Amino acid sequence: MRTCNCGETDSTKFRKRMASKDKLDYLCKICARKYDRIKYHNNRDKLIARAQKFRNEHPDKVKKSKDKYNKANRKILLQRTKQFKKDNPEKVKKTQHNCDNRDIIELKDRYIKQILRSTLKLSSSKISQDFIDLKRTQIQLKRAIQNEKSKN
Ligand SMILES: [Zn+2]
Repeated sequence: MRTCNCGETDSTKFRKRMASKDKLDYLCKICARKYDRIKYHNNRDKLIARAQKFRNEHPDKVKKSKDKYNKANRKILLQRTKQFKKDNPEKVKKTQHNCDNRDIIELKDRYIKQILRSTLKLSSSKISQDFIDLKRTQIQLKRAIQNEKSKN
């Protein structure tokens, strides 16, 4: 039987630890969480640097796990975004105008995506690269026409 430092003996209150004999962690969940927090606090800079390094070295892995997370939590995330927009209309307005001029002049994907998102009410994942390119051509055409018009 496991006994935690705090006296906890209920095996269901322990985390799993495959390396140990009875497959249970040394500490109960509550103590383990406390311990993790202290450990994190003491090594914060190091852990952040390590995570950053991992992200830089494995962008594909990071993207994969992000996609997986987003897919699994789609409903919650959408709900959260919706709530955030409702609670912070000023912040949302600010981000929408956050594309800098270069994005707009050079018709960067980011800028075009933003237009498509807001005019067609599409989520980012539904906007294909072909569609972005098509929209870019449309804008270029429109700009060219406007340019011609202003010459006359
Ligand atoms: Zn404990």
